[in-house]
Amino acid sequence: MRYGLISDIHGNLEALETVLAELHNLEVDAILCLGDVVGYGPNPDECVKLVQAHAAICLMGNHDEASLGDTDLSFFNYVAREAIEWTGEHLNPDSKNFLRALPYTYEFENYLFVHASPNEPHEWNYITSWEGAEQSFQAFHQQACFVGHSHSPLVVGRNEHGAMQLHQNYPILFENNHRYLINIGSVGQPRDSNPAAAYGILDTAQKEYTLLRLGYDVAKTQKKIRAAGLPGFLADRLAEGR
Ligand code: ZN
Repeated sequence: MRYGLISDIHGNLEALETVLAELHNLEVDAILCLGDVVGYGPNPDECVKLVQAHAAICLMGNHDEASLGDTDLSFFNYVAREAIEWTGEHLNPDSKNFLRALPYTYEFENYLFVHASPNEPHEWNYITSWEGAEQSFQAFHQQACFVGHSHSPLVVGRNEHGAMQLHQNYPILFENNHRYLINIGSVGQPRDSNPAAAYGILDTAQKEYTLLRLGYDVAKTQKKIRAAGLPGFLADRLAEGR
């Protein structure tokens, strides 16, 4: 089976439509979404609808949870908070019901999926160090764990002796006795200095993962962000991938 993996769409309809069209061209068997369908971007309802229609599974992200209104927003910076409040006011009841029911983790075969970190799926930790990566590896038993959340694609491999290394050449072939922590990056707001939408393909027969990038109509999304009255920085950052 070949799975299309998407995450951190953040209400960016142009990026999502572009990636979904390509995943259909590639004839993947199913699409899995790792969360943060909404927040930051101008089309939260439209993105929820598309994910609902096209993804077999969608996980809860911190922005999805926060936009439902029952989270302490003090953990978010000013711009994120503004956007979450805007999203909460604009989401229709059907979208909220969909988001409210999202699970925090999903697993099948030898793979685990979670929005932020496998050790505390309900907290929203960022994995930013080797120690953090090791903590994550301790928390799952599958061969690979896929995450989103940081908006920066990254693959850490760990051999049977506990030695870790970064993998930067795709596709990554899963070696026996090695385990992998894989950040699939963000569809709607990449932050690795590359504005192209990030998404991935997991091929379970080949035991292989690859990261893909695709440009989309950034200018159109930027225009909508400004027209919606969302903070201008959210439009600026899309062109730079930050
Ligand atoms: Zn996010």
